[in-house]
Amino acid sequence: MTRKTILITGASAGIGAACARLAAERGYDLYLNYNSDAAGAEASAEAARAAGATATVLQADVGDPEAISAMFAHIPRLDGLINNAGIVGQTARLTDMDHARLKRMFDVNVIGAMLVAKEAVLRMDKGVIVNVSSAAARLGSGNQYLDYAASKGAIDTFTKGLSDEVAGQGIRVVSVRPGIIDTDIHAKGGEPDRADRLAPKVPMKRKGTAEEVAEVILWLMSDQASYVTGSAIDVTGGR
Ligand code: NAP
Repeated sequence: MTRKTILITGASAGIGAACARLAAERGYDLYLNYNSDAAGAEASAEAARAAGATATVLQADVGDPEAISAMFAHIPRLDGLINNAGIVGQTARLTDMDHARLKRMFDVNVIGAMLVAKEAVLRMDKGVIVNVSSAAARLGSGNQYLDYAASKGAIDTFTKGLSDEVAGQGIRVVSVRPGIIDTDIHAKGGEPDRADRLAPKVPMKRKGTAEEVAEVILWLMSDQASYVTGSAIDVTGGR
C-alpha cells in the first residue's frame, strides 16, 4: 500500500507535535510546518523519523500569504492536512483591543488557515482536512479573548462551507474543537496556569492532553471516519 502524505501546520509544539508523533506511528509521511520554534519542529521531525516516517520541516508564518506560497512550492501533492497552527492574545476586553491585534488574529487563525486549505485542496485527489477550531467557538470567551473565539467560529463555518464544495471530489473536511488542553498556548497568552485554573470547571474535572486531541484528529484522518464531513467534534471533557 502506498504511504499517505500529510501536512501539519504548527507542528513544533503542543497539539501539532502530538499529531506528528501519532501520524508517523500510523504510517503517514509528513510535512511539518512551524513559524518560530525551529528546534521544536526538528524534534517533531526526529521523532517521526524514528517511527519510520519521512519528515520534511518547512518554516512559514501562515499569517503571511507569500510565506504560504513559498511553503507550498515544496509540496507537490497531499493526502491530508491538519490545519492546526493558531495563536491566542493576552487577556483583554474588546474595548482594549486595537486593529493590529484583531488583524493578526484573523490573518493567522482564519485567513492563514483558509489559504493553507486552498493550497492543500489544489494538491489533493481524495483526502481529508482537519481544521483545529476550539470550544471557544461555542463559548465566546468574553472577558478573556473574544477575538480568538470569533476566529474559531469562522473556522467552524469555513469547515462546513468547504466540506460542501469538495465532498464530490472525495475530500472530507472536519473541525476539531479542543477544550482546556495542557500545552504552552496558555503561557503564550500570558496565563501559564490557565489550564490548571479552569480544570475544576470541566465536567471531567481535569485538563486534556495534546495526545488525547491527536487521537481524535488521526481517527478523523483515517478511513474509519469515512462518512464524517462538515461537522465539528468536541474534545473537551464535556465542557
Ligand atoms: P501551542 O503549543 O502554542 O502550539 C502552536 C503551534 O502553532 C506551534 O507549533 C506554533 O509554531 C504554531 N504557530 C503559531 N503561529 C503560527 C504562524 N503564524 N505560522 C505557523 N505556525 C504558527 O498551541 P496548541 O495548544 O498546541 O494549539 C494548537 C491549535 O489548537 C491552535 O489552533 C489552538 O487555537 C487550538 N486549541 C488549543 C487549545 C488548548 O487548550 N491548548 C484549545 C482549543 C484549541 P511556532 O512555535 O514555531 O511559532
